[in-house]
Amino acid sequence: MKGNFVDITRREIYPAEIIVEGGKIVSIIKQPLSPSPTLPGGKSHQPHSISLKQDANNNTDTPKSGSAQPREAPPPEGYGEASFILPGFIDAHVHIESSMLIPSEFARLAVVHGTVATVSDPHEIANVCGIAGVEFMIKNGSTVPFKFYFGAPSCVPATTFETAGATLNSKDVEALLQRDEIKYLTEMMNFPGVLNGDEEVLKKIAAAQKVHKPVDGHAPGLRGDAAKKYIDAGISTDHECFTKEEAIDKLQNGMKIIIREGSAAKNFNALIDLLHDYPEQIMFCSDDKHPDSLVEGHINQLCARAVAKGIDVFSVLRAACINPVLHYKLDVGLLKKGDAADFIVVKDLENFEVLQTYINGELVADGRKSKISLPSTVHSSEPPINNFHCTKKKVEDFVVPFTTPHLPFIVIEALDGQLITNKLIAEPKVMGGKIVSDVEHDILKIVVVNRYNDAPIAKAFIKNFGVTHGAIASSVAHESHNIVAVGVDDESICRAVNLIIEHQGGISLTPGPSHQSGEGGSLAHLPPKGEMAETQPLPNQDSSIKKDTDLSEGRAVDNFRGAILALPVAGLMSNEDGYKIAEELLQLMG
Ligand SMILES: [Zn+2]
Ligand SMILES: [Zn+2]
Repeated sequence: MKGNFVDITRREIYPAEIIVEGGKIVSIIKQPLSPSPTLPGGKSHQPHSISLKQDANNNTDTPKSGSAQPREAPPPEGYGEASFILPGFIDAHVHIESSMLIPSEFARLAVVHGTVATVSDPHEIANVCGIAGVEFMIKNGSTVPFKFYFGAPSCVPATTFETAGATLNSKDVEALLQRDEIKYLTEMMNFPGVLNGDEEVLKKIAAAQKVHKPVDGHAPGLRGDAAKKYIDAGISTDHECFTKEEAIDKLQNGMKIIIREGSAAKNFNALIDLLHDYPEQIMFCSDDKHPDSLVEGHINQLCARAVAKGIDVFSVLRAACINPVLHYKLDVGLLKKGDAADFIVVKDLENFEVLQTYINGELVADGRKSKISLPSTVHSSEPPINNFHCTKKKVEDFVVPFTTPHLPFIVIEALDGQLITNKLIAEPKVMGGKIVSDVEHDILKIVVVNRYNDAPIAKAFIKNFGVTHGAIASSVAHESHNIVAVGVDDESICRAVNLIIEHQGGISLTPGPSHQSGEGGSLAHLPPKGEMAETQPLPNQDSSIKKDTDLSEGRAVDNFRGAILALPVAGLMSNEDGYKIAEELLQLMG
């Protein structure tokens, strides 16, 4: 195999021969110079070529044998001499559940993009299934050659405004943190709790500190003294900054900033220039990564975009490959002698097209193909994990009577491509004594149906959603995974909700009231816990969601999976006056 060895810390690229034995790098031998690779920006580096040797023992093309004799692997066809070898990419903060895939399936897709590890917060599944959900993620993740690192969820339930399926108290969190597989305490969303010295919150942080594991932050918009106090409480990362100024504030107080560019929130453009000045304090993450975008790319795309913006390639790779390993103390190899043989081969350092991915010396992706097959464990005999107990609803359950004309009619405004939401005062559309969806002004009814028991349905109205007929519903709704539905008429909403109840989870669409469009509706079924696709290969899964986007003006599905899925925590809690909005909404719903 030929390529160029990228030594990120020493900021050098040179030809070398890498010897891998037993899944580890046993030596790196510099090679004589030969033709020259071109660095981003047209700079020609010293001429190099590399040969990477691998032992037969770890070549995944052949079953493991007892042989430890190193041999030279054949060069991958068409890769030429100019390929580059570097440590693998790491997503430093991701909720695997948001991909609607179980971990093994997530890994199968991610390795194609050179991702070798994720720092994953299992709080979505923990909100639904508690510790059993966390166990499920660890166990399923361990069935594939991929490095999943999970944390102990810090905020289950995420909010007191919504009913979740489970609670993890400080004792549960402490027990999880004792375990070797658990690497950190996950995003401390309850920043008011930190600032006000909430006893349970402080106990959870102390439990992490006791075992020397880091505590992740989540404090959108927190600045100045409040930010300092939050950081001083022992919280060392934040992935929620949406302005450079906010990030600089936090960086200067010693925090690490994880630049987030996912399917929901996109902060890359606002923050990427910080990498010039803070290469040691920055990482990359997706936070929420929907299946369609995971098929397209992952951290490799962020590297390409950063380099295209003129950021030094070594700083970019430091953020993408090295900083997460050091911060979370991950046993991911960094291409040093004795390290696990975790590395990737990329075609160039501009587009970062991934040619091969190795984890523990095993070839897990070759070309555009994943070597991780849909494992038999996916079809295991274990019953799917779920927590779903409500019964079907009636159309009348969704009616909003117009009873309080003197109260302002508060509407949630979904902001395109962002997690935050606004509130607006609008004129309600009243028909037959009921407040109904106002398609003309794009103000639609939104409901939250408790999945865990038959509680009353919460109802409100939302602007800027784009659905023009029918309804859309989902049980993939951060953080509590109750059923959230938005629609034009109550019958469509009710049918969309009932489709999900019938199948104990998923995403559904109904085209309109039955007198206009029949009883039709479609559902993407996503067990376990009605959130992740267990058996269905991904592209089909998503196309069934995508093909129905013509139900709306096109924005609906994106907005649904962005702003609305994140509504309870991001829209209500993290907005500056989020608590106020939440209170007013509750009044409105009450
Ligand atoms: Zn967060
Ligand atoms: Zn998150």
